[in-house]
Amino acid sequence: MTARTIDGKTIAKEVRSKIKKEVHKIKDKIGLAVILVGDNPASKLYVNMKQKACKEVGMDSYKYEFQKNISEEEVLSIIKTLNKDKKIHGILVQLPVPDHIDEKKIIHAINPDKDVDCFHTENVGEMFIEPDYEKILPATPKGVIKLIESTGIDIKGKNAVVVGRSNIVGKPVGMLLLQKHATVTYCHSRTKNLKEHTKYADILIAAVGRHELIKADMVKKGAVVIDVGINKVGAKVVGDVDFNKVKKVAAYITPVPFGVGPMTIAMLLENTLIAYKRQNS
Ligand code: NDP
Repeated sequence: MTARTIDGKTIAKEVRSKIKKEVHKIKDKIGLAVILVGDNPASKLYVNMKQKACKEVGMDSYKYEFQKNISEEEVLSIIKTLNKDKKIHGILVQLPVPDHIDEKKIIHAINPDKDVDCFHTENVGEMFIEPDYEKILPATPKGVIKLIESTGIDIKGKNAVVVGRSNIVGKPVGMLLLQKHATVTYCHSRTKNLKEHTKYADILIAAVGRHELIKADMVKKGAVVIDVGINKVGAKVVGDVDFNKVKKVAAYITPVPFGVGPMTIAMLLENTLIAYKRQNS
C-alpha cells in the first residue's frame, strides 16, 4: 500500500481563492493587525507569510513590530487601541513573546470578537461547549479537520489519536474531532508505550515537534496520518512522522512542508473574514 498524499498546498489555495472572491464583494477593507515582539526568525517568517496571504486575498494587514524589551504595559496599550480601531477586524500576537511579557494577559486583552487565533478563553470556552464553523475556531485544528475531510472519510466512530496536548494544537484538534463523533485519545510526553495507542488510530494526528517520532510500526494499516510538526533538520523542514516509511502503511498522509502549514494560514484568513462579518452583522 502507498498512501495518497493530502495536498495541503492545493486545498489551501482553493480556500484562499474562495475567500478572495468573498472579500472582493465586500466594499469595506478588511484589516488584520499582527503584533510581533522581538527578533525570533521563525516568528518573523510566519508574520511575513500571513501578511503576504492577506494581500493576496485583498485584505489589509498592519504589522506592529517591537523590540524585545518593550514593556508589557505598552503591548497592552497597543491592543487596547486596536480593539477600538474600526479598520481592524482581527488581531493576533505572534507567539512566543519574551519572558517578561505575560502571554495570558496579552491574549485576554484582545477583544474576543477580534481574536482570530481563537486563543481567548471566551472563544476557547465556546469551542469546548459547541464548536461552530460559522464562528472563529483555532486555525491549525480547523485546517486539520478540513484536510481529513478532503479525503472523503467519515470521521464519525473512528478512533482518533492526537499526539500532543498543547492549547494551540493538540487539545483543540481533539475537541473538533470529538464534535465530529470520533473516539478521541490524547497522548503526550508522559504517555506510556505510545505505540500501543497510535497503533489503534484510524486517524493519527502528530503535533509534537519531534523529528520522526512516528515510525511505520506505530501506524495502523490504512490510517489517515496528519503531520502538524515543524522541525528543522539542517536546512530541511520536516515533520513528526517518518514520511517515506509511514507512507507505505497509511492510506492518506500529509507532507511537511505543504501539508498543514498552508492550511493554518488559509484558516487564519477565513477567521478574519468571519470576524469582519460578525462585527458588521
Ligand atoms: P508544544 O511544544 O506546545 O506541545 C508539544 C506537545 O507534544 C506537548 O503536549 C508534549 O507533551 C508532547 N510531547 C513532547 N514529547 C513527546 C513525546 N516524546 N511523545 C509524545 N508526546 C510528546 O507544541 P505545539 O503544540 O505548539 O506544536 C507542535 C508542533 O506543531 C511543533 O513542531 C510546531 O512547530 C508545529 N506547529 C505547526 C503548525 C502548522 O501550521 N503546521 C502550527 C502550530 C504548531 P506534554 O504536554 O506532556 O509536555
